[in-house]
Amino acid sequence: MPETAVATDVQPDPVKDTAQVARQTAFVQCLTALRRTLTTTPAGWALVVWLSWGRVPHAQIGLWLAGFAVFWACSLLMLHRVARRGPHVDKDTGTVLMVAGADGAAWGAAVGLLMGFDPVLDPWLAAVLCGVSAVNAPVYITFVRAYRLQILSLWASAVLGSVLLAGPGKVPLEGLIGLTVFLALIVYYMHPIADRVVEGIRLQFANALLAKQLREALALVKHDAATDALTGQPNRRALDLLLSKQLKLASGNGRPLSVLLLDIDYFKRINDVHGHGVGDDTLRAFAVRMRGLLREGEVCARYGGEEFVVVLPDTPLSPAIDVAERLRSGACATPLLKSPPLTVTVSIGVAQFRPGQNPAALLEAADQAVYAAKRGGRDQVQSAAELTISVERALDGACEP
Ligand code: GH3
Ligand code: MG
Ligand code: MG
Repeated sequence: MPETAVATDVQPDPVKDTAQVARQTAFVQCLTALRRTLTTTPAGWALVVWLSWGRVPHAQIGLWLAGFAVFWACSLLMLHRVARRGPHVDKDTGTVLMVAGADGAAWGAAVGLLMGFDPVLDPWLAAVLCGVSAVNAPVYITFVRAYRLQILSLWASAVLGSVLLAGPGKVPLEGLIGLTVFLALIVYYMHPIADRVVEGIRLQFANALLAKQLREALALVKHDAATDALTGQPNRRALDLLLSKQLKLASGNGRPLSVLLLDIDYFKRINDVHGHGVGDDTLRAFAVRMRGLLREGEVCARYGGEEFVVVLPDTPLSPAIDVAERLRSGACATPLLKSPPLTVTVSIGVAQFRPGQNPAALLEAADQAVYAAKRGGRDQVQSAAELTISVERALDGACEP
């Protein structure tokens, strides 16, 4: 994509995205906890029925239980459907609020329907309702709005029910006051804790995003530090590291390794005649062509200027010379650039690694071979071994009487 297009695109706001993802996660966590808690509601019913049995008319108990069961079944069904199609905070908030409100109202109805019959039972029922609101606090910790609604519904239903249903003189005032104080306190203390939990979730996502951005930035820096900016090939630094590693490997396992040093012929003329820009384009095109002529595992690095080094692991001298010949003939086979249609030739020095050699000595041997290729008329391949032989021959000759 062109850079200008990127610049005018609407950029995503990672902080806003993180807040939205955290909101959604918090909502889903609440929904999951709510479904799980609702399945344990019958245990609460059993406790209430057990406490009320023999103290409250069965019809009253049955009415409370039946009404609650209808709400409960509808709530579970609604939450199940939401969970099945994938909950979304913006779409499903209403459903969760409705379930929370209905649940609170159903529990609160116990005051009007079951209290005021037995003075021993009333405090127990008040304690159960306090327990219910305490159990629900962690359920709604990531969606405190629903909790406030549940508690408000419970309280309103308890007050209304006791006033409307309990009959004159039977309003369980102490129980209601105790319940009110407890509910007010729990909502009051829950709020800051819930804020911290939701903020914690947001921070988790923000940290994960930051870690991802850091990893990407580090990968980019690593890549840039090892890449030649002009040609996109490994740079001198990467070559040094690679050679040290490969030489250690070759020393360890005794396998052959060769390097080629490529020096474009008369490159200065290209700059002089066509300008530096064309010179740069030529270097880029040359690197691409060399890369295309190599196999996987064979590395072509920019050594500097118009010189490149090819590292050939597991390759003895003779096949390395073949590769060099392939690169030499490939370089001048067709023009590198369309306009101007420039053709270049290249002189290549080949050197095979000898045990005990360090990277500098190996490259020096290849450089000597390039030098010989230049002297020999350029556009040719010379190997360090041939040089050694010819030097030896010369010395032999010199020693002859
Ligand atoms: P020879 O056949 O002897 O190698 O001749 P040559 O002209 O290729 O060698 P010389 O060392 O005289 O010149 C190399 C030129 O490469 C000189 C320098 O300006 C040019 N050069 C080095 N790096 C770059 C580069 O990044 N971009 C461009 N355009 N030119 C470069
Ligand atoms: Mg040179
Ligand atoms: Mg050159």
